Amino acid sequence: MKVCDTQSFAADALDRAIAGKRLSREQVLALYEVPWPELAAAAHELRLQVTDPEIATYSIGGNIDYTNVCVVACRFCAFYRAGHQKGAFTLTFDEILGQMEEIRRIGGRDVLIQGGVNPDLPFGWYLELFRLLKAGYPEIHVDALSPEEILGLEKLTGRNAEDILADLKDAGMDGMPGASAEILVDEVRARTAPTRLTVRNWFRIVDAALELGLFNPWVSMVTGFGETPAQRVEHLLALREHQDLAMERHGNGFAAFKVWPARLEPTRLNDKMPAAPPDETSREYLRHVAVARLVLNNIRNHRAVWRTMGFGVAQAALRAGANDLCGTGSINAINAAMMATGKGVQDPAQLLIQQVEGCISAAGFVPALRDVRYNILSRNGVVGTALHDSAATSGVVARRKNEEANA
Ligand code: SF4
Repeated sequence: MKVCDTQSFAADALDRAIAGKRLSREQVLALYEVPWPELAAAAHELRLQVTDPEIATYSIGGNIDYTNVCVVACRFCAFYRAGHQKGAFTLTFDEILGQMEEIRRIGGRDVLIQGGVNPDLPFGWYLELFRLLKAGYPEIHVDALSPEEILGLEKLTGRNAEDILADLKDAGMDGMPGASAEILVDEVRARTAPTRLTVRNWFRIVDAALELGLFNPWVSMVTGFGETPAQRVEHLLALREHQDLAMERHGNGFAAFKVWPARLEPTRLNDKMPAAPPDETSREYLRHVAVARLVLNNIRNHRAVWRTMGFGVAQAALRAGANDLCGTGSINAINAAMMATGKGVQDPAQLLIQQVEGCISAAGFVPALRDVRYNILSRNGVVGTALHDSAATSGVVARRKNEEANA
């Protein structure tokens, strides 16, 4: 194609996307060549059309990594350890419950519990864990595990994902995220994580969870594995197709999409895939946020990640297609560690909520606190509202106390 033909093809693709129409593979590929200001403006326009144009949302919750012991040994992973290796850990139930206490204290409404594929943990360990969580923290929504961990349980028990997930749901698990996706192209997966679950198994297990009515809080894309633009497009189109089918078959699909770049410096892939300069990584990240909003028009919520990219880049993402800012995340672990060492001069949760809301305000939106299903709990966030005792955590905690007092 001549340059002017290419430009008009890309311009047509933008127009189609803003009009809510589906893009072909070639049109999606063309989006990666559109000048950034036009791409960002189009993604932002679509975001304003399909989500509340005044607010950007966030949630208060926590992450608990229950074990880093893993036999999958992905080459891109700096988290896992072999069972006998220095630094290997598996949390006790008491340690997990301690972190849940901290999530409750900061006003958290959801938790994400994930780890490695640890063959030393029997299936009953998970059932007991979820029963304990439901009994002790009925108000906290529990998202847990990943398709990779469910595949590990299939191998461990000889049972299929449907039966395993049904038992986990009965025990108290509310949802499973679309994690362990990275790039859903087997050639990329085989090169970067030869024993990782295949694309077919990923979709099979995600589908089993959706069919059972388990919530799926987000589906992800991780870039920077040397994948080609065409392979990135393949990932996006596979998710779009699956979302259509899942909504049609189960009325249940991915609640949100998020993308972030892989951090390979501390991994075995470091010398094979040297990191791009930070500016280039940020530019690429923002482009993926915008392209995803235009392509995945059947996933309503698109999240900006500040923990990987920083608040400045996350703020830009909120003007380029994203409508939600990842919230407090693993603040429970940080809080607990700081309290244990007596370093809690200022409550980290309060500080973080201020930063999250500040980032949203700086992007030109009203910060709105949401629950896990994107119901709005407070249209003005929580900073500046009634604060929790002298620790001053969040208005959510204070409101819950009032609710309890009035009950
Ligand atoms: S399965 Fe997860 S924890 Fe295990 S090595 Fe791969 S990315 Fe790391």
